[in-house]
Amino acid sequence: MHHYLMSGFIFALGLIFGSFANVLIVRLPKKKSVIKPGSQCPLCHHKLSWRENIPVFSFFLLKGKCRSCKKKINLRYPMVEILTSVLFLAVYQKNGFEALLFIRDLPFVVLLVAITFIDLEHRIIPDSLSLGGLVLGLVTSWFVEDLGTLNALYGAGLGFLVFYGLAWIYEKMTGKMGLGGGDIKLLAMLGSFLGPLGVVQILFISSVTGSLVGICLGIIQKEKNIMKTSIPYGPFLVIGALFYYLLGYRIWFPFMTPI
Ligand SMILES: [Zn+2]
Repeated sequence: MHHYLMSGFIFALGLIFGSFANVLIVRLPKKKSVIKPGSQCPLCHHKLSWRENIPVFSFFLLKGKCRSCKKKINLRYPMVEILTSVLFLAVYQKNGFEALLFIRDLPFVVLLVAITFIDLEHRIIPDSLSLGGLVLGLVTSWFVEDLGTLNALYGAGLGFLVFYGLAWIYEKMTGKMGLGGGDIKLLAMLGSFLGPLGVVQILFISSVTGSLVGICLGIIQKEKNIMKTSIPYGPFLVIGALFYYLLGYRIWFPFMTPI
């Protein structure tokens, strides 16, 4: 198929899966079924017709307001849909058209997007996403030539151990929990997709970006003790994972062979 046509298909697919990510983001923290009932306005529970339920387009068609209760629709909906599409395209550009795209790489992106927005809003990472993702990463690693199941296991184990160790040290030093159990499971999942070298780089990138954002927020909020500024760490792990996954090891370790 023509490359542009294929890109258009992947982009449209991204919008549909972005829409599904929105369902996960809204319903998983409330422990509601992600299948039934169909889409509805979260405020007035007005059931959406298919015309009100087209990713991104409906948002503009409805001028950002629910047709029934006229309340504003959260801007997160179209943002998540567009973000998912853009990431789908990036993954497609990197990997080309292959079967693994559909059973591994694109579902990985959906998981990352859903985890990021749930953690930002609720400060939790549902086990169904992190542990479900861990299983998906391990099972599909069998088919990834430059990773392999052994590396995926090492990655998951390293992710779990490193973070578990950090959480333990942090707790001993400060007497309080800083790193959540959700972060530990998330890093294990990321390790199962990206291997041990991925875990090392995710930790590096996430700690740098996390600290920078934490310090900036601390200054904005005029927090006296900058270390006390509390932000969820999951989104930074995801940023690190995407950075490594899409741009690769070359930036950091130019002389090393892949994973
Ligand atoms: Zn409504």
